[in-house]
Amino acid sequence: MENKELSPVLDKEDRTQGRVEEMRHKLAESGHRITPQRLCILQALTDSPSHPSAEEIFSEVHRACPTTSLATIYKTLQTLKDMGEVIELEFSDGSNRYDGLRPKSHPHCVCTKCGVIVDVEVEGLEDLDRRASDLSGFAIDHYRIDFYGLCRKCQEQ
Ligand SMILES: [Zn+2]
Ligand SMILES: [Zn+2]
Repeated sequence: MENKELSPVLDKEDRTQGRVEEMRHKLAESGHRITPQRLCILQALTDSPSHPSAEEIFSEVHRACPTTSLATIYKTLQTLKDMGEVIELEFSDGSNRYDGLRPKSHPHCVCTKCGVIVDVEVEGLEDLDRRASDLSGFAIDHYRIDFYGLCRKCQEQ
């Protein structure tokens, strides 16, 4: 895992398998069939080191389940998103990225050169949604915080 040496970055190894099971359970609970293709998608969604795009999930899934179409990927992502099990990070160039490991809003660091996206825990930003809700009276259901810059790898190049 290339992110190992990045101390502020959460180690997601421990989350991966648990999240696959959780999402699988949620899908089944809401009446969705757990097809081998869907399982492959859940695996790819949580295996990927850095918030994969639908296309990246597709090429990963395609190796294990070659019959899976990109449309199926999008449909499953939409279903998981609607269930609050996946976060979709939209970008203006249309290259949306997905986080199936942490379905609750959290800050991200986005590399402006290679496009890698990592979760980052910043002290003082916990409970932001609750605090913003207290101040504004809004019933907040999600938020988006991105930090942009060069990742360690790109800084070294
Ligand atoms: Zn980079
Ligand atoms: Zn994330």
